[in-house]
Amino acid sequence: MKLCDLHTHSNNSFDAQNTVEEMCESAIKSGLYAVAITDHCEAPMIGYGTKCEYGNFDELIPKSISDAFAAKKKYAGKLKVLCGIELGEPMHDIELTKRALAYGASDFTLASVHNLKGMSDFYFIDYSKVNVDEILKLYFDELAETATFQHFDSLAHLTYPLRYIKAKTGKIPNLSAFKKQIDDIFKILIKNNKALEINVSGLFKDLKSTLPGQELVSRFKELGGKYITVGTDSHSVDFVGKGIREGIEVAKKAGFSNFTIYENHIPILIPISD
Ligand SMILES: [Zn+2]
Ligand SMILES: [Zn+2]
Repeated sequence: MKLCDLHTHSNNSFDAQNTVEEMCESAIKSGLYAVAITDHCEAPMIGYGTKCEYGNFDELIPKSISDAFAAKKKYAGKLKVLCGIELGEPMHDIELTKRALAYGASDFTLASVHNLKGMSDFYFIDYSKVNVDEILKLYFDELAETATFQHFDSLAHLTYPLRYIKAKTGKIPNLSAFKKQIDDIFKILIKNNKALEINVSGLFKDLKSTLPGQELVSRFKELGGKYITVGTDSHSVDFVGKGIREGIEVAKKAGFSNFTIYENHIPILIPISD
């Protein structure tokens, strides 16, 4: 089977260590068919320029794009390198989001929500001081709004807050109260021909599950979901490709016979085989 990792970060992301070439070498070693470099671009933070705590996106993203295109050429015939971007909070500031999209041509855009409007990243929240259900309700509202955005291909890590809620409280919140909200997100994705990401990073952390987990991926399929992307969200060479087979297995169990990669934002179906 052609294994593909559609979510990786190079050192053009503030929180990752390795160069695009090192990530590609690791992908080849892991036997991958394709890898997408999807460096962070937190849209509402672009305006801070050189004062942005996550680095200057006006420099980082054009560099990420040019590194990915150079790797595409260098590894042609050995590895399909896809130039991507992880666009954070695209609905928080549409003008800055437009600036992000104008940095250069890419193959693939992941959309994600790492923080609610006016709040810090879910990673930094003290869950003993907040109403977790309230935060989750707001999160899924924002995700539904994000799903209506036209200029992305796949919605990243649907259950992102669970990564940190489990790590910091030891408990995984029951999502049954959010079933309707999540169904609505899926219906928007399906109507707009967007993909749902199976992010396998949680398999190796406290969560011990993909984001989202089996039940929600199956629900996406049940509602008519067509496109699935699978990504490790690796921030170093050690995780490139790790868990991709398990992620594909979740898609298969949900009833998908293909997963998807994107070239020039056009979905290409890759058959799931044993
Ligand atoms: Zn993310
Ligand atoms: Zn990521």
